[in-house]
Amino acid sequence: MLADIRYWEKIAQKHHFAIPHFNVWNVEMLEGVMDASEQENSPVIISFGTGFIHNTIFEEYAGMMVSMAKHSTLPVITHWDHGRSFDIVKNGYDYGMNSVMRDASKLTFEENIAETKKVVDYFHPLNVGVEAELGHVADPNKYEKAMEDYQYTDPSVAREFVDKTHCDSLAVAIGQVHGVYTSTPHLNFEVLEKVAKAVPVPLVLHGASGIPDEQVSKAVSMGICKVNIHTDLGIAAMKAANAHSDQLYLEVQKYVREAIKDEAVHKIHVLGSQNKADLRLENY
Ligand SMILES: [Zn+2]
Repeated sequence: MLADIRYWEKIAQKHHFAIPHFNVWNVEMLEGVMDASEQENSPVIISFGTGFIHNTIFEEYAGMMVSMAKHSTLPVITHWDHGRSFDIVKNGYDYGMNSVMRDASKLTFEENIAETKKVVDYFHPLNVGVEAELGHVADPNKYEKAMEDYQYTDPSVAREFVDKTHCDSLAVAIGQVHGVYTSTPHLNFEVLEKVAKAVPVPLVLHGASGIPDEQVSKAVSMGICKVNIHTDLGIAAMKAANAHSDQLYLEVQKYVREAIKDEAVHKIHVLGSQNKADLRLENY
């Protein structure tokens, strides 16, 4: 069933687990993560975003995301990831996403507040949760290079940002980047601790693929309530495709779906969200 991300992020915050957010831009990915979530009885966020519009026609594919969410017995959230404009976020909503992220993290602090607030003001009356980003999770690059001028979330202004925007959750930049890590990343737990103390809203970790499981689990125990995963699903898919490259695509597709499922099951266990779908009736 379609579920409210604000409810589930608060439940995750209370019970110290994180909801898995999987970027799924094709059928293998979508079915693989739904298989995993059904098997593990986990709430799940299935997500599309600007980065995938050259792979898949969102306006057609969204119908399948929404249909699978509605037909599932699990709480499923359909999400638009990294909305870099009001219009693109609105388009995501118009095609069935019931949760959105407005990412204005490359703008100035004041502009980020104004842009985020505009989206919050529009979507809250529609019962759609809004995620914002403060600091900037670096784009794919050499990890050491990305860290040279890394824009951490500033704990001293985080509360002001949340109070002024009324965002429902906050994506933090704590030493992680998007894409493949070129060396082992080290999350800055000091920053995370300060931000978690400063703001009441659930926190979100982007760029979680490739971060050692122990670090992700620790971040979850410190207040991360939603974890975004994409690259690791792609790596699992590629391994499966390469391992069965002598077979028909018709068969390879099934191996890819299975590999994505296995990877998603692993992530669900790292985040501690298995069997948490049972918390759907709890008040918060
Ligand atoms: Zn992200």
